[in-house]
Formats: sequence, C-alpha cells, structure tokens
Amino acid sequence: MVEDLETSLFLEYARRKMAFEYDNEEVGELAVKILSTLIERNEAIPDETLALILGISATEIRRVLHVMHKAGLVGLIRESTDQYRYEYKWFINKDFIRKFLIQHINDVAAKLMRRINTLSTTTLYICPTCFRSYTLDEVYEYDFRCPRDDTELVQADAPSEIAFLTSTVKNLRREETG
Ligand SMILES: [Zn+2]
Repeated sequence: MVEDLETSLFLEYARRKMAFEYDNEEVGELAVKILSTLIERNEAIPDETLALILGISATEIRRVLHVMHKAGLVGLIRESTDQYRYEYKWFINKDFIRKFLIQHINDVAAKLMRRINTLSTTTLYICPTCFRSYTLDEVYEYDFRCPRDDTELVQADAPSEIAFLTSTVKNLRREETG
C-alpha cells in the first residue's frame, strides 16, 4: 500500500498509542493491520469481516477496535440491515484521518500554551538529569536537589524555552491550516 504523509503519521500514532495502552508492541502492530485494512477497503465493514480478512479471532479484533474507537482512532456506524436489525461497521478514510490529526495538533498546541503560561508566570527549576521541573516551593522543600536522583536543580531558562515552545505552536498551527 502506498501511504501519504498524513496516513503514515496517523498509523504511527495509532501504533504507539495502542502499544502504550496495552503495554504490548504486538497490539500496536495489530492496530496498524486493522486500520490499514480499513483504509485499503475504503468502506465500512463489520468486525467479523475484518476477522476473516486478517485471520484473527473476532473477539480479539473487537476488543482492540473498541479501545481504538474510544481514542477516536476508528469510526463506527450503525446500518440497518432490515426493518428491525442493525449491523455495526467500522471505517477509516482520508477525511477521518485529517480531522483526527487536526484535533490532535490542537490538543498538543493547547498543552504547549499552558506550559508557556506556567513558564511566564512562575519560576521553575529543572533537574538536568531527569528533566523534571519543580516550582520554587518544591525546590525549597527538596533543598535544591532532585528527590529522584539527587542532582542539583537549576533555574529553567524561561525566555529561551518560551521562544522554543512559541515557535513549535506556530509550526503546528501552520501544519493544520496548510
Ligand atoms: Zn532528577
């Protein structure tokens, strides 16, 4: 399958997210297999069909699909098969991927903005060993040493970190509109 940039970013994100959720690399690989299949088929299909295509039990596929759906990584639609019955089908398409990435970029940008806000309103100290940051209150409490590794804490270089974060946010916003 030839992947464009957005699709490969999306699949890589899904792989890492699912591997992290389950603390299992194989689940990450399975998630990519499921999503790639849905992209290739380019239509909504039920989990039984996915199970047949991939040769994996429907139970396992359904389990992974539900977690992915919660994380917004896969779409779910309900189709009526006749007057009384419904069938659930899963889908992924270019539009879905694009919307997901824009949402994700917005979330990351919002987090960075909060960090910029903290940096500009409080004095932060950083541990040069583990890169954790501490407030001034904590620094006094810990006597200027990192409680994890006993490294001497240094004051964060707020102006340069703010400049770096601001340009990162700007780039993310450009990505989103571009
Ligand atoms: Zn530390």
